Amino acid sequence: MASLSLKNICKVYSNGFEAVKDFNLEVEDKEFIIFVGPSGCGKSTTLRMIAGLEEISSGELIIDGKLMNDVEPKDRDIAMVFQNYALYPHMTVFDNMAFGLKLRKVPKDEIKKKVEEAARILDLEKLLDRKPKALSGGQRQRVAMGRAIVRNPKVFLMDEPLSNLDAKLRVQMRSEIASLHNRLGATIIYVTHDQTEAMTLGTRIVVLKDGVIQQVDSPQKLYNEPDNLFVAGFIGSPQMNFIDADCIVEGAKASLKFDKHVVELPEEKAKKLIDGGYAGKKVVLGIRPEDISDDPEVIEKAGDNTVDVEITGYELLGAEVLLYYTIAGANMTARVASNTPARMGDKVKLAFDPKKIHVFDKETELTIT
Ligand code: ATP
Repeated sequence: MASLSLKNICKVYSNGFEAVKDFNLEVEDKEFIIFVGPSGCGKSTTLRMIAGLEEISSGELIIDGKLMNDVEPKDRDIAMVFQNYALYPHMTVFDNMAFGLKLRKVPKDEIKKKVEEAARILDLEKLLDRKPKALSGGQRQRVAMGRAIVRNPKVFLMDEPLSNLDAKLRVQMRSEIASLHNRLGATIIYVTHDQTEAMTLGTRIVVLKDGVIQQVDSPQKLYNEPDNLFVAGFIGSPQMNFIDADCIVEGAKASLKFDKHVVELPEEKAKKLIDGGYAGKKVVLGIRPEDISDDPEVIEKAGDNTVDVEITGYELLGAEVLLYYTIAGANMTARVASNTPARMGDKVKLAFDPKKIHVFDKETELTIT
């Protein structure tokens, strides 16, 4: 398999539009890298430049130490699985998987061996004689994967490969892709819109916005320690709550004031705000829905660090309940236990876990703590 190095990669389309700006990424052998970001942020463009389907405007693409910028797509030893996994309808599963190898004039017995091996990995052995129209969506998707696997490429590129599948199949294929990654020990770069796919499949996630990398980290680190407000809001569902607040400093203590509420920050977070010169300044408080509690025991311990709100929405998810309300004009969500007594219209007390509060610079939107 392979390591990739993307150095200062830029893409300017012929109409002058800068779709990817100074993209830098080192991908190690066997990594499962995910590209996420809003529509139009440059995910597919980057993937297509790696595949050689789109010209690199500037920068260097290096695969296993070799400069690839001007290498033909077919000579890059990369396999791409698209969202529209266009299989040839008149060919059997076997022939669909064998097609690329036949083009490459691979000997017949070797083709047979490779297709059978891929069919075994993907559990397609019994379907090799069928035509695509006699397959389910998930089976077709597996054939598309098989077509990539038989080539034994250095790198797999996948552009939203599961987006045409229904919810149940997506979950099934997601775990198949995860185990495929383990079994093949492959280097995979995968584009998705789907939070869960990103969080469950990726060894590292690249968050993109307007063609610029915002953060590259493990799913856990992105979730717990986002570098800026955009990443904090993009990763996690329901998303992190944000409230504009004033930073108030008294001695070694720092609190965040919003509306009629004041939340005191733990020592370590207070120090960052004080050292950063945020006393008296406007900041953005961020807190995830699950870090807000209506548990009476938690409320009692929280002392003054609570907020009084009116519940404007209630959603039972099964094991949990989402409570909706507003604070200082901001729409807020709390994820609480399903036995909560709170209902629409109730006035309730909620506690923010001070250790889980994120604070962002209002101007730069960078994380302060
Ligand atoms: P999505 O999630 O919607 O697939 P994406 O992140 O994959 O989006 P890209 O397809 O990489 O986004 O497109 C990035 C930007 O480049 C978009 O604003 C798009 O409109 C623009 N773009 C794509 N192809 C071209 C082109 N051939 N000429 C000009 N602009 C283009």
